[in-house]
Amino acid sequence: MAMDRMPGATHLECTASGTHYESETLQRLSDIGKPLYARYDLEAIRDRFQPGVLAGRRADLWRYREVLPVRDPAAIVTLGEGWTPLVDTPRLADRIGVRRVLVKDEGQNPTGSFKARGLAMAVSRAKELGASAIAIPSAGNAGGAAAAYGAAAGMEVHVVVPTDTPAPILAEIRALGAHLQLLDGLISDCGRVVKQGAEEHGWFDVSTLKEPYRVEGKKTMGYELFEQLGGRLPDAIVYPTGGGTGLVGMWKAFGEMEALGWIGSERPRMYSVQAAGCAPMVRAFEAGEDHATPWEGAYTYASGLRVPGAVGDFLILRALRESGGSAVAVTDSTMEEWVMHLGADSGIFAAPEGGAVAAATVELLARGEIRDSDEVVLFNTGSGLKYVGNVPLD
Ligand SMILES: *Cc1c(COP(=O)(O)O)cnc(C)c1O
Repeated sequence: MAMDRMPGATHLECTASGTHYESETLQRLSDIGKPLYARYDLEAIRDRFQPGVLAGRRADLWRYREVLPVRDPAAIVTLGEGWTPLVDTPRLADRIGVRRVLVKDEGQNPTGSFKARGLAMAVSRAKELGASAIAIPSAGNAGGAAAAYGAAAGMEVHVVVPTDTPAPILAEIRALGAHLQLLDGLISDCGRVVKQGAEEHGWFDVSTLKEPYRVEGKKTMGYELFEQLGGRLPDAIVYPTGGGTGLVGMWKAFGEMEALGWIGSERPRMYSVQAAGCAPMVRAFEAGEDHATPWEGAYTYASGLRVPGAVGDFLILRALRESGGSAVAVTDSTMEEWVMHLGADSGIFAAPEGGAVAAATVELLARGEIRDSDEVVLFNTGSGLKYVGNVPLD
């Protein structure tokens, strides 16, 4: 059955100043260099967009089309992203010592990571608005997802990644036909190369939170949690944070769900997990800062967490504080240990980032921040298969 044209966003809004921008041309950051969020006329769709209408819809993130920015169904570039399983893991819950643990297994997305959600949305919208070439700096998985969705859309894709990106991800990017550049540096250095290429060649730069739509793809994880839990949210969400799009995306989704009348003002406590070798958000959270200072000498084998600075830092810190959550860092060797526990207890071969959230939950329980009576959702953001050959660095 063909889908009708979708309502799309009414406008974009600067997340820092609240200034409005129009949403029907390609946009990146606001005039003051902050991320833009898509806003919808939730009041107008409130009557017809209720959880009951979702039953029987396609089993991917496009089931939430009323709150997505793409208008023309023909512009949708899809590989089956989203609607990943929320797996109940009683033996892992016992091992950690909490009432209930559910793992949202994002490793089952196309390209083996939740980056598929964001890039499906950004590429679809860029296509709809007329872009023909995109470029992305990446710690790995975002490059794979950009290559995949760019290929599906028939676009030219330029990916710049650090030389020590996991080999399976480099193989993936090459197989998907993207132009791949390796750089001896971090994702932040790759970002500068992409910026220059975008200026010289007119590529559309889809860096994390520097265009408005990757976060719209990632926010669907929040809608899915609500639906998959039968119409409610968990006590706590533990999430591995790099650029923070997933975390702030879910936070945005909860705000929309409240405006739509799906939930009240209650929120899950949100916990950010970072690597001990790269923990700018943890440091800023603990210091009570609103912004994070970039981390010097970042290292971790969890490449998705090797992000020394984030343009959305203030959005991450605000969500953690408003939710009553916090931020915690774990070492690579602890992550690795919990990749093994998680695997043996659940059957999910997790990325190091997935191991990190399991390890962090143990720490949060010891600190009394997570209680043994809690129902906790752990995000495994990627498949362990994409990290084969990577070894812990501490
Ligand atoms: C990118 C990535 C992260 C970090 O995600 P953000 O939403 O940017 O914070 C975590 N895990 C994996 C596997 C990733 O690829």
